[in-house]
Amino acid sequence: MLVNQAVITGKSAAKGRTPEEIEQIRTVLRTRFDDLNSEYEAAVVENQKLRLVEIGDSAGDDQADSGSKTAERDAATSLLRTLLDRRTQAEHAMARLDDGTYGNCEGCHNPIPWERLEIFPSATTCVNCKQNRERRAG
Ligand SMILES: [Zn+2]
Repeated sequence: MLVNQAVITGKSAAKGRTPEEIEQIRTVLRTRFDDLNSEYEAAVVENQKLRLVEIGDSAGDDQADSGSKTAERDAATSLLRTLLDRRTQAEHAMARLDDGTYGNCEGCHNPIPWERLEIFPSATTCVNCKQNRERRAG
């Protein structure tokens, strides 16, 4: 039993990181997740307000009015999507911290440079793989 416990402990610790560093990252990610969560919830409320206004006075709109409303709604929707993406990313990074894969690139499986993780704690790919992904997506 003791042997098994030792194996599990050894496996769950991310490579090359001290438990203190792991805890530090977890705190950063948790704070980030909570921040994004409240921002997202505020944006959802804002978005609903926009829609209600739209339903309320859509009759008798002239062309320019409805155009600017569409732009406003599009901006709100894209903000929602961005916040949701970031929140998911932070959540994902926390899960990787738990299963001990945090800090390794999801694309090429090489360690992500520590300096990058300090700036982008929820990064799950190295700069190269991130650029490759974006190129493919764009
Ligand atoms: Zn990579």
